[in-house]
Amino acid sequence: MHAFMDEFKELNYEHNALRLAEERNAMFAAIVDSSDDAIISKDLQGVVTSWNPAAKRIFGYTAEEMIGQPILKIIPADRLGEEIDILTRLRRGDRVEHFETRRMAKSGRLLDISLTISPIRDYFGGIIGISKIARDITLLKQAEEKSAVLAAIVDSTDDAVISKDLQGIITSWNISAERIFGFTAQEIIGESILKLIPEDRKEEEYSILAQLKAGRRVDHIETKRLTKDGRLVDVSLTISPVKDTKGNIIGISKIARDITEKKLEEQRKNDFIAIVSHELKTPLTSVRSYVQLALLKARQRGDLYTEKVLSRAENQTVKMTSLIHDFLDLSRLDEGKMALNLSRFSLPLLMNEIVDEAVTLAPLHQISYQLCEEVHILADREKISQVMTNLLSNAVKYSPAGTTVTVSCLRVGNAMQISFADQGIGVSPADQKRLFERFYRVNNEQMKNVSGFGIGLYLVTEILRMHGSVIELQSQPGQGSVFSFSLPVQ
Ligand code: ADP
Repeated sequence: MHAFMDEFKELNYEHNALRLAEERNAMFAAIVDSSDDAIISKDLQGVVTSWNPAAKRIFGYTAEEMIGQPILKIIPADRLGEEIDILTRLRRGDRVEHFETRRMAKSGRLLDISLTISPIRDYFGGIIGISKIARDITLLKQAEEKSAVLAAIVDSTDDAVISKDLQGIITSWNISAERIFGFTAQEIIGESILKLIPEDRKEEEYSILAQLKAGRRVDHIETKRLTKDGRLVDVSLTISPVKDTKGNIIGISKIARDITEKKLEEQRKNDFIAIVSHELKTPLTSVRSYVQLALLKARQRGDLYTEKVLSRAENQTVKMTSLIHDFLDLSRLDEGKMALNLSRFSLPLLMNEIVDEAVTLAPLHQISYQLCEEVHILADREKISQVMTNLLSNAVKYSPAGTTVTVSCLRVGNAMQISFADQGIGVSPADQKRLFERFYRVNNEQMKNVSGFGIGLYLVTEILRMHGSVIELQSQPGQGSVFSFSLPVQ
């Protein structure tokens, strides 16, 4: 009976041990099956003995295709030596961890792989095989390479490249940022970006932040920033939201270009234009007076030929004077020194003067004008006259001889709308968007022989803006243009 009981116990024990081992095997098999990493085992000859689903996903071979086959199938020819090396280390009983290498998928594609390789031992400690865990790090490698390239670009650019979080705390700072602003990365990372912003421009930062939080990028704004030693630098800023893969805004990147040199150059150019224009203005005024005097004398003498020649000369001085006025205004505008000299004056009287002048200056065009209703406006008379002269001379300049230029004024509610319509070359929709920019001129065949500087419409826009008005344009290429603006009646 005892003997039977002992045998029974032993059997039961064996049975339990078997069950436990089976359960453990099932658990390991489930882990191996569900792993994201390729888990492969092979014998000491390098023949594959197991191949999990992730191995199939990563390398493209099924378990049936690989089990019984040499592992060399997935090793690129130039890395065969590596495998021998690993085998030697394993035979010594070492484990090889996170070894980064390359393997070849069934498709022939090379994959970046991180390998952890361990010996499999039997009950007595002898090595009977090798287990290999392979992680596909291709994407990680690509991301690493990409960020290394980006880091190299960021380090080598002449622009300051700065990133900050949504609270405005600086999180990265490149070499050029150090050169431009004087702070080292150690000094400034973790500090607020407000350290770089002059007191009177703090508002600007809040409005930029609001735009960025709405997901918009802020391009090329010219502003000033503070350096470590308290100097102001002229910078052009491009600021973009940094988004995570789900599109959430997680930070802000800022590129600041030092434009001090450019600003100085602009300043020098402006000064030059201002000085030259000013120097030209005085002699031109006396030339005009002498021509007018001589004209008067010619008229008195009844010398028709001299009268004709002198009146042409006078017209040219008028054109030059208005050009010089434009140049002077351009430099005043750039320096923020353009001021309005407001007065209340009669609109029809001013328009008469402008139209009369145009009639003599553009004898080859019909100028059609119906006398404007007698109203007064409060504006800078000289500047509004400059706006009208510019629009009227453009209407003449950009339409063929013999066509009509119509000047009109229309009362709309409490304002007068003044328009200049021509039958000329017109403006394409694309050019209409840019026409009012400084120095912008349309670039096409018809414009080839028409000279100009592209500042007239810019000045028109700015002068009207200072009067609280805007310039409007309706035009179609080949059909002519209508430029108009409104001013309130006083
Ligand atoms: P400019 O006449 O010296 O070139 P403006 O600033 O006055 O400078 O005009 C800018 C550009 O707008 C011109 O070069 C021309 O291409 C276009 N433009 C202006 N007025 C007209 C018009 N009435 N018809 C067609 N194009 C025009």
